[in-house]
Amino acid sequence: MTQLIRAIIDSSALKSNLRQIRAKASGSRVMAVVKANAYGHGLVPTALALPEADAFAVARLEEGIALREAGIRQEIILLEGVFSPEQLAEAARQRFEIVVHDPLQIALLERSTAEHRFVVWLKVDTGMNRLGFRTEDFGAVLARVRALARPPAEVRLMTHLARADERDCPMTRMQLERFDALTHGLGLARSIGNSAGILGWEEARGEWIRPGLALYGISPFSQESSAGFGLIPVMTLASTVITVRRVPRGESVGYGGAWTAPRDSRIAIVAGGYGDGLLRSLSTGAPVLVNGRRAPLVGRVAMDMIAVDVSDLPEVEVGTRCVLWGRGLEVSELAAHAGTVAYELLCGVRARVPREVI
Ligand SMILES: *Cc1c(COP(=O)(O)O)cnc(C)c1O
Repeated sequence: MTQLIRAIIDSSALKSNLRQIRAKASGSRVMAVVKANAYGHGLVPTALALPEADAFAVARLEEGIALREAGIRQEIILLEGVFSPEQLAEAARQRFEIVVHDPLQIALLERSTAEHRFVVWLKVDTGMNRLGFRTEDFGAVLARVRALARPPAEVRLMTHLARADERDCPMTRMQLERFDALTHGLGLARSIGNSAGILGWEEARGEWIRPGLALYGISPFSQESSAGFGLIPVMTLASTVITVRRVPRGESVGYGGAWTAPRDSRIAIVAGGYGDGLLRSLSTGAPVLVNGRRAPLVGRVAMDMIAVDVSDLPEVEVGTRCVLWGRGLEVSELAAHAGTVAYELLCGVRARVPREVI
C-alpha cells in the first residue's frame, strides 16, 4: 500500500480533452484556464502537460510567476489584471498579458514608465455584473487605452457569460448580442466562452476560448455527462479501506450517531475526510466506488475518514481500493449530493493529498 489517499492526475486525459475542445472550436486559439492550482489538479504539472495550449489564464500574479519559474513560455493572461505600479512592473517583467476591467488599471498604464508594450485584454460587462466596463463606457475606455503614451502591443476584447450552463436561458443570447453589437467590425480579437459557452453556444467561440472545467474532463451541464462531450475526467481521487467492521442492526455509526444500521451491516471505513477536501455536507447516500462497485456513504464525513455501507459487496477488506470521484464516478454527481458544484470539490482537494501525475 503506498498512499492511503491520492489524487491521480491523468495527463493523457488532459491532452485528449484539449483536443476535443479544439475540435468544437476549430479556428479559435485556446487559453487553458489553470487558476486555483489548476482547479486542484496542480498548477505546474497541468501546464507542463499541455504544451499544445496557446496560452494559460490565471487569476493572480503569483500563479503566473509560478508558471514562468517552471519554464512555461506560452502567453499568460492575468484574468483579474494588476492593482499597483509594482504589480504592473512585475507583469511587464514576466511578459504577462493583462485584463483591464477597472479605471484604476487604465490609470496605472497611463502612469507607467515601463518599456514593455502589453497585450491588453479589455473586459466588457455584458450582464454578469462582476468585472468589466459597462457597454456605455466601452468606447471611451477603448479610446483611452489606444491613446496611451506606450500603446498596447495589441488590444483584445473579452466578456464573461453568467448563465451559459443553462441551455434554455435567454440571458446568454442577450449577452452574446450585446457583445457582438459593441465589438463587431473593430478588427480586434475577441474571447467569450468558458467551458459551457464553448460547448453550448456556437456564437460564444470567438478568436480565443477560455476552457477550464471541460479541460479537466467535466461536463459544464448538470444534465449531460462528460462522455457525451468526449471528455475524460482528469482527476481520480483514489482511496483505501482502512478497516471493515460489523455493525449490528440498531447501532449507530460515527459522530452524532447520524446513521443507524437498519440491518446487521458491514461498514468499511475509508481514508478521506474534510481534512482532505471532502465536504461535510456530503450526506448519507452519497456514492463511493469500492472495488469498482457503488456503495453508499453513511453517517457524517469526519476529518480523516468516512464510513461506507458495504453489506452488499463481497470481498471488501483492509487495503481494498476505492474511488471517491473520477473515473467511474463523476465528481458532478458527488457535488450534487453535497449541494455544490464540481468546481468547489476539485479546488478543495487539500495540500496533504499527494498528486500523482500519470
Ligand atoms: C474561471 C474562468 C473561466 C473558465 O471557466 P470554466 O467554467 O471553468 O470553463 C473562463 N473565463 C474566466 C474569466 C474565468 O474567470
